[in-house]
Amino acid sequence: MECRIGCGACCIIPSISTKTKLLPNGKPSHTPCIHLDDKMRCLIFDHAERPSVCGSLKPSFEMCGNNRDEAISYLIMLDELTK
Ligand code: SF4
Ligand code: SF4
Repeated sequence: MECRIGCGACCIIPSISTKTKLLPNGKPSHTPCIHLDDKMRCLIFDHAERPSVCGSLKPSFEMCGNNRDEAISYLIMLDELTK
């Protein structure tokens, strides 16, 4: 499955512990990543600085669902389960 244009759910809901220049403490959960642009695209997608966890998170029906709301609901549930 392909990533849905304009979604960005997996760049908002999960926390990221990897530090980047603009995220010296990583990214808290339920917070849009500072590297997202206004169209929900990753501004450092092809950069070495992009956290490896981002590259390992592949689009899947289980996570992405049928729409952005389903993706957000799934990721919130996952975040709660992994706290
Ligand atoms: S949840 Fe899925 S569709 Fe949404 S941004 Fe992430 S990979 Fe793309
Ligand atoms: S670095 Fe890019 S892929 Fe990773 S969470 Fe931020 S915007 Fe998303």
